[in-house]
Amino acid sequence: MAEDCIFCKIAAGEIPADVVYEDDHILAFRDINPQAPVHIVIIPKTHFQSIMSVPAGDPVIGRIHQAANRIALREGIADTGFRLVNNCGEDGGQTVPHLHYHLLGGRYMEWPPG
Ligand code: AMP
Ligand code: ZN
Repeated sequence: MAEDCIFCKIAAGEIPADVVYEDDHILAFRDINPQAPVHIVIIPKTHFQSIMSVPAGDPVIGRIHQAANRIALREGIADTGFRLVNNCGEDGGQTVPHLHYHLLGGRYMEWPPG
C-alpha cells in the first residue's frame, strides 16, 4: 500500500466506495464524478503508479480487462458497447497516481476525446 494513495485506501476498505466488482486482485467502484450513465473505476489492489510501472509479463492488465468484460455484462452495456480508458501521466489527464481504467457506457462515446 502506497502512502496517502486514495485508491490504496479504497482497496483496503479505509475509504468507502460504491463497489460493483471485486476479486482477489481487482476492485471496481462507481466514479464519484461520473462522465456517463455508467462510469466505473477499475483498479488493481496492488499499487502501480501507472501502466508505465507495470513490469513486462505482469498479469494485471489482462485481469483489469477481464474484470471490465464481466462488469459490462453486469451493467447491461456489453451489447450496446462501452469505452475502456486509461489516462497515463500529466498529458494523459491522470489525476490519481494509482493505475486505473475507466469503464464508460450507457451513452454514445464521441471521438476524438478532448
Ligand atoms: P484520472 O483522472 O484518470 O486519474 O481518474 C481518476 C478518477 O477517480 C476521476 O474520474 C475521479 O472522479 C475518480 N475518483 C477520485 N476519487 C474517488 C473516490 N473517492 N471514489 C470514486 N471515484 C473517485
Ligand atoms: Zn495506490
